[in-house]
Amino acid sequence: MNEFFYTGLLQLADSPEQLAGVIAHETGHIAGGHLIRGREEMRNASAQAILGMVLAVAAGAASRNGQIAAAGMSGGQQIAERNFLGFSRSQEASADAAGMSFLDKAGISVRGMLEFFQKLAGQEMLPADRQAEYVQTHPLTQDRIENVRQHLEHSPLKDVKLDPKFYTMHDRMKAKLLGFLQPETALLRYTDKDPRLTARYARAIALYQTNQVGRALNLTDGFIIEDPDNPLFYELKGQILFENSRIEESVTNYKKANELLSNSSLLHEAYGHALLETKDPARLDLAIQQLLESNRLEDRVPVTWHLLASAWGRKAELAKDQQYDGMVSYALAEEAVARGADKEAGQLAERAMKVLPKGTPYWLRAQDIKLTTAPDADHPNDDEKHDKLKVGDRG
Ligand SMILES: [Zn+2]
Repeated sequence: MNEFFYTGLLQLADSPEQLAGVIAHETGHIAGGHLIRGREEMRNASAQAILGMVLAVAAGAASRNGQIAAAGMSGGQQIAERNFLGFSRSQEASADAAGMSFLDKAGISVRGMLEFFQKLAGQEMLPADRQAEYVQTHPLTQDRIENVRQHLEHSPLKDVKLDPKFYTMHDRMKAKLLGFLQPETALLRYTDKDPRLTARYARAIALYQTNQVGRALNLTDGFIIEDPDNPLFYELKGQILFENSRIEESVTNYKKANELLSNSSLLHEAYGHALLETKDPARLDLAIQQLLESNRLEDRVPVTWHLLASAWGRKAELAKDQQYDGMVSYALAEEAVARGADKEAGQLAERAMKVLPKGTPYWLRAQDIKLTTAPDADHPNDDEKHDKLKVGDRG
C-alpha cells in the first residue's frame, strides 16, 4: 500500500522542487498530528530531519524488485493508510501551512508546491477512475492554491532553484522507477537513439526486466566506463548478475558500489546476500558484517534479518557453537517484529534467551522483544508498544 502510494506520487512529480513540495505537505500532516503514530516520531525529530529522511527514501526508491527501500518506514505507512480514507479540508490547510514553513526553513522555494498543486488541479478535470489516488485523498481547493501563490509572491526564496545535482537525481529516479515498474513503456520513452545517460540507464533496467540480459549488461558496462564513480551503476550491474546466477561477478560489483557509497542499507544487504550466496566459509564473517551494517542503518527490513539468521545458522554448523543457535532465534525474532508478528516474535525471543548467555547484548535485545511483545504486557495502545520497541532494540 505505501509502496504504491510512493511510487505513484514519485512518478507524478516533474521536478525535485515539486517533490519537495508534496513531501513538505505530507510532513505537515505528520506534524499536525493527523496521524496518530506520527506525533510521537515528530517529537523526536526536527521537521528538517524528517524532510531529509523522506527525500532520501525518494532518492533510494525502486530497489531490487521495484519496491521502495523504506517499506518499513512507519510514518510513510501511516500516511498511506490515512490517505486511503482521505484528509479533511481543514487538515489540508494546516498541512499546507506547516509544509510551507518547512520549505522556508530548508531554503526551498514553494514554487514546486504551487506547480504540483496546479498539476493536480488539472487532474480534477479527469474522470475519477483516471485521477491519481492522491487527488482523491487530499481534497484540493482553489483556496489552497491561492494560499501557496500568496506565500510565493512574498517569499525571498521565490526564484531560488535547487542545486542542479537534485535535478540529475530526480531524472535518474524517474528513469529507474519507469524502468522497473513499466519496462515496456520505458523502452518506448527512452529509445536507443537517445544518447543521454539517464535514458540509457532506464533502458538497461527495462531490458533486464524484460529478460534481455546481454543487452542490459552492454549498456551498463558503457555507463560504468563513462561515470566510473557512480555506485548506482555497480548496484544495477551487481543485481543483474546476481539474479542471473553469476554470483562471483555480482560480489565484485556490490563491493565496488559499497566502496563508493558506504551508508546505504540496501547496498550492504545486497553485498551481504551475494557473499552468503557464494557459500564460501571464508567469506561468511564478511557477509555477517555487511548484514549487521545494513540493519544498523535501517532495522525494520524483514528480509535482512532473515538473511542474518541464515548466515548465523551456517556459522553454527561450522563453528559448532551453540551460541549461534541462539543468535538465529534472535534474528528470526527480529524478523517477526519487522513483519508485525508479535506472538511469534515473543516465542522466538524466549527461545533465544534460553540459549544465549544471560546479560550479553543479544540476550538483552531478545529480552526487550519478549517484554514488548508479551500479550499481557502493560501497554495501553499499540503505538506506545511500537515506540518502546524501537528504542529498545537499537541498544
Ligand atoms: Zn494532504
